[in-house]
Amino acid sequence: MNSLDQFMELTQVDSNGCCVWTGALCGKGYGQFTFPVGRRAHRAAWAMFHGQIPKGMQVLHNCDVMRCVNPDHLFLGTHQDNMTDMKAKGRRKGITPRLPDGRPTASKIHPEDVVQIRQLVASGSMQKDVAKKFGITRSTVGNICARRLWRSIE
Ligand SMILES: [Zn+2]
Repeated sequence: MNSLDQFMELTQVDSNGCCVWTGALCGKGYGQFTFPVGRRAHRAAWAMFHGQIPKGMQVLHNCDVMRCVNPDHLFLGTHQDNMTDMKAKGRRKGITPRLPDGRPTASKIHPEDVVQIRQLVASGSMQKDVAKKFGITRSTVGNICARRLWRSIE
């Protein structure tokens, strides 16, 4: 079992597309991933899907879910960006901007898209073309098809 499988075992995909970390949490409420070395789960997720985190950069959430490790919900920023972002989103007050159906505004894909994405790939479309069509990364398409993401959707 590689670290990615181990990592995915510890996440639960919610209806917003967030991969919510179900493993241990560190003191501040972020997921704690202990393989290969103890580190924050969302940082581990970034490193696994997108490569090394540049020195001094933080991995931030655009979905506002601290325990989310969905690589598509993460972006790099500085400590200052994080503060600005928190302010803009009103996280200090505990408000997450949501669409009328309850999804956070950052959620890019609908459950119906998930079904369509799997059908397209199953019928022979290239993952990269499907990714482009839905504005998500190729690795997300791969994860959706392998049911590492959106596991609850059939
Ligand atoms: Zn998320």
